[in-house]
Amino acid sequence: MSFTLVIHGGAGNITPAIMNKEQEQQYHEGLQAALDKGYEVLKNGGPALDAVLAAIMEMEDNPLFNAGRGAVFTKKGLHEMDAAIMDGSNLEAGAVAGVRNIKNPIRLAKEVMLHSGHVFLSGSGAGEFALQQGFEMAKDDYFFNKSRYDQWVKIRDSNFTQLDHEGDNLKGALPDMGHKFGTVGAVACDVNGNLAGGTSTGGMTNKRFGRIGDSPVIGAGTYANNRTCAISCTGHGEFFLRAVVAYDVSCLMEYKGLSLQDACNMVVKDKLVKMGGEGGLIAVDAKGNFDMCFNSAGMYRGMRNSEGVQQIAYYG
Ligand code: ASP
Repeated sequence: MSFTLVIHGGAGNITPAIMNKEQEQQYHEGLQAALDKGYEVLKNGGPALDAVLAAIMEMEDNPLFNAGRGAVFTKKGLHEMDAAIMDGSNLEAGAVAGVRNIKNPIRLAKEVMLHSGHVFLSGSGAGEFALQQGFEMAKDDYFFNKSRYDQWVKIRDSNFTQLDHEGDNLKGALPDMGHKFGTVGAVACDVNGNLAGGTSTGGMTNKRFGRIGDSPVIGAGTYANNRTCAISCTGHGEFFLRAVVAYDVSCLMEYKGLSLQDACNMVVKDKLVKMGGEGGLIAVDAKGNFDMCFNSAGMYRGMRNSEGVQQIAYYG
């Protein structure tokens, strides 16, 4: 049987104009390392869920991406992270929102799924659960990143928030907002045709205390169902929440019989565009068909499958 892994590292104003060769190389290496981690699991016959976890943890550990170690700063100068994971074989899911000092929020999301008796834990309750489960807490300076700090300092006294993928396109004329992109996600189809999806993020720079985006919300930023597809989204979370993007793609396949690609195109390039929602998603179905679909200038993305096909790309 075949298998497929698809990953993203955020979507937005990603163009050759904002990247130099060195940055391109760094992103390439970051995405390649994540693909390799997930691919290894699938190649050894492991479950899609474990491949998704391995790929996302690799990106959470890389300060280049806005997740885990590289999470952006909130209005209060903290790091509050969101993550979700879903197993398409049984529709089990786990999610955390607004968690602090957790090195790998995606691992905590899986722990919630397996051992909490709940689907979604937030804030201090999620932190307490992490301690109970023996998670090691990382100090604040583990998450310190100079460029993200500078990015935040520029807007911390304003009411602006900045999506990590907005770059200079920020509405409100604040110049030179930096070029950091990077919510991360992975979707996989394993040798048994089981699907899984996951997403992890630091959210938006200067976000309000307690703000939660689409990433950890099952059906909005993350979804997986063996009957249809596995999806991980990235983009302007408020729009993705209201459009229930990930589940909408699944519904178009389940109830209208659309192909994976047609369903992704309809949601990302038609519905979201009409609402004004910028971003994209990665998707895979149980036959290993995949899509990496976005309406923004670019999306950090990559895929690798058992047929020997491999891609890493950034631009539109
Ligand atoms: N969707 C994420 C959020 O709104 C951000 C992103 O994908 O970059 O929190």
